[in-house]
Amino acid sequence: ELYNKVLELKGNIRVFCRCRPLNTEEIASGASMTIDFESARDGELTVKSNGAPRKTFRFDAVFGPQADQVDVFQDTAPFATSVLDGYNVCIFAYGQTGTGKTFTMEGTEEARGVNFRTLEELFRIIKERQKLFRYDISVSVLEVYNEHLRDLLVSGTQPGAAAKRLEIRQVGEGVHHVPGLVEAHVNNMSEVWEVLQTGSNARAVGSTNANEHSSRSHCIHCVMVKGENLLNGECTRSKLWLVDLAGSERVAKTEVQGERLKETQNINRSLSALGDVISALATKSPHIPFRNSKLTHLLQDSLGGDSKTLMFIQISPNESDLSETLCSLNFASRVR
Ligand code: ADP
Ligand code: MG
Repeated sequence: ELYNKVLELKGNIRVFCRCRPLNTEEIASGASMTIDFESARDGELTVKSNGAPRKTFRFDAVFGPQADQVDVFQDTAPFATSVLDGYNVCIFAYGQTGTGKTFTMEGTEEARGVNFRTLEELFRIIKERQKLFRYDISVSVLEVYNEHLRDLLVSGTQPGAAAKRLEIRQVGEGVHHVPGLVEAHVNNMSEVWEVLQTGSNARAVGSTNANEHSSRSHCIHCVMVKGENLLNGECTRSKLWLVDLAGSERVAKTEVQGERLKETQNINRSLSALGDVISALATKSPHIPFRNSKLTHLLQDSLGGDSKTLMFIQISPNESDLSETLCSLNFASRVR
């Protein structure tokens, strides 16, 4: 079977695939590329095994190892306009640990990612529209770890600490709120950068291995936008969620016990709950199972309806990661 079920453009859900380059160690050890990007321009990639084409997958966009942050953002920027137009937007990075989820979302100081660039784009458009609209932007940064929410803008909180237990409350028809969550008001990009840094630093606090902790938790930025049309006084409220998901790699249950087993089960449960919600939305199912995980419950108001969703499926080009890569590509076909 050469063709997988074609990933069609459906409703408000877009799926992009991004593959990281082989790293220096992989190149040094003679690792081979298991993905062919010849048709990347047409949104296709072909998975090879032992050098022979095995399966082709189609996406709304494919970014091969040569694509940089600017290339990726070019196709992401329209979502920023949607947020200012009053739509709720969710952008996710999904994939095995080490495939570039954090690189895509957070990026580095020299190669900033989607989080920074999207906010930069918001401020650019706000300036462009300043004669017609007034906007007010605030940002929250939180983490979901073991089905608990942690506010990353509150200093001194640690993973697993009982410090301040955040809960999700329904405060109206289709309106969910996290009482007590810090909402940092931002007026410009230097304030944004400060907030992003605070969140990023807080994430590592208290964990013995920062990388390991970040691969087992979902890191979430929520950008809240209030808009006012200066001509007619009409107001809009919308949210942009930027989510760096926990690593999707399967961990054999027999290999882990105790705390690790609980973590693993929580990650598996929340990633499959997310897949279930997005595929239920894509197929217009009457029941959307938002309540099966903290993540989907939190994002409930911004998934479905006229909200827009962008999912980055992050993959490794290394043949030795092939089975995880196929799992991620198959997840993509579930959420279409
Ligand atoms: P994840 O968050 O999925 O675990 P990371 O974002 O930490 O993965 O990426 C793992 C490593 O690969 C990092 O050193 C990162 O800088 C690098 N990397 C990932 N994607 C790219 C890319 N597209 N181009 C260059 N380096 C990348
Ligand atoms: Mg990461």
